[in-house]
Amino acid sequence: MSDVHSKEVRSYNMSKIKGKDTKPEILVRKFLFKKGLRYRLHDKKLPGKPDLVFPKYKIVIFVHGCFWHGHEGCKYFVIPKTKTEWWLNKINSNKEKDMESVQKLKNEGWKVYIVWECDLKSRKKEETLNALYYKIIN
Ligand SMILES: [Zn+2]
Repeated sequence: MSDVHSKEVRSYNMSKIKGKDTKPEILVRKFLFKKGLRYRLHDKKLPGKPDLVFPKYKIVIFVHGCFWHGHEGCKYFVIPKTKTEWWLNKINSNKEKDMESVQKLKNEGWKVYIVWECDLKSRKKEETLNALYYKIIN
């Protein structure tokens, strides 16, 4: 048992570092899986390694943390007061990479949906997930 626990802790730490398997992303995955949809995860062959890939629908989904991906006008996107310039550079470069990936994917004929972390907070969650589901299957 203790080994299982340490494995969990390790993977949690890894997820914090790599930004993979974050909680909002798991929420989206679980919801769509329950709805019967099947997908690939973090496909390295595609630009930006989309979080979820639906080859059958030619759709990819990114689940973005509002801070790291600089969600404009969002209350969760607040640049820290210290090392402000460093953070701005960091987040702006994330945003540039995001835009590049989206453009490349679109050029390859993929539909790209971005789900923001703030839209997965308790009150909005249900609505966001349902809307996403219908966008995929339609
Ligand atoms: Zn947001």
